[in-house]
Amino acid sequence: MENCIFCKIIAGEIPSAKVYEDEEIVVFKDIEPKAKIHLLCVPKEHFAYLSEADDKRAALLGRTLKKIGELKNKFGLSEGYRLVVNQGENAGQTVHHLHIHILGGETLEWE
Ligand code: 5GP
Ligand code: ZN
Repeated sequence: MENCIFCKIIAGEIPSAKVYEDEEIVVFKDIEPKAKIHLLCVPKEHFAYLSEADDKRAALLGRTLKKIGELKNKFGLSEGYRLVVNQGENAGQTVHHLHIHILGGETLEWE
């Protein structure tokens, strides 16, 4: 997808601090961390919204969540973490390539 910053990171055209990669997802550090640990988990396939998920993408997202659970210790998140998926304008989504924020490394506020 042209002009998509995450597609460029996936293609290696823009550098990123990758912490995990397999055939269908990549995980790298957010450039503006909102917690001590702030990772972005990005499916390699370009789509922007959950509302674009067909059965195949739904299965991919299921595998992605399972993978995050499996990798929590490797990511330094054994004490807990939070997942956030911003969708659309009201949520402040700035990159229109679906991604899961993974936040942790400290106690997170919930108010
Ligand atoms: P959104 O607001 O769309 O949910 O999240 C986009 C996230 O991508 C933001 O937290 C932002 O800091 C991060 N981000 C934007 N551009 C880059 C980049 O070039 N590299 C990295 N590592 N993160 C980025
Ligand atoms: Zn993209």
